[in-house]
Amino acid sequence: MSRMKIITQRDEILSVRKRFFEQYKNHSDNYVFWLSDPKSIGESRAELSALNLETCSVADVDAAIGRAGWIENKCDICREDSPILIQLGDEPDFESRWQTLCASCLKKALDTLTSAAAVAALNLEIEK
Ligand SMILES: [Zn+2]
Repeated sequence: MSRMKIITQRDEILSVRKRFFEQYKNHSDNYVFWLSDPKSIGESRAELSALNLETCSVADVDAAIGRAGWIENKCDICREDSPILIQLGDEPDFESRWQTLCASCLKKALDTLTSAAAVAALNLEIEK
């Protein structure tokens, strides 16, 4: 089912605890992936649990986990992180996937479409 959905950075923050716990559900609290990691999985779990996900920042989440990368809200076109995006299309599947766009890229797409439509209309006028 095709759709449009607004995706916010806050949505990513609100879901991070669930995503992190699910990802590492089979790891013990004292597990550390890399010797360079500043925190064990258990320390990250405890700090994530203490965060108020309604109000905390991306930096707060990064600090709780011990590394960045869990909160990403990137536009598929320009690859920039954005506080708000629109997702178009279907959930990724065998033949389909969605595109997630920032306002700037969506505006560029609309401008491109509008000028292409204007050129097409002009061509139709000439053909008459
Ligand atoms: Zn963009």
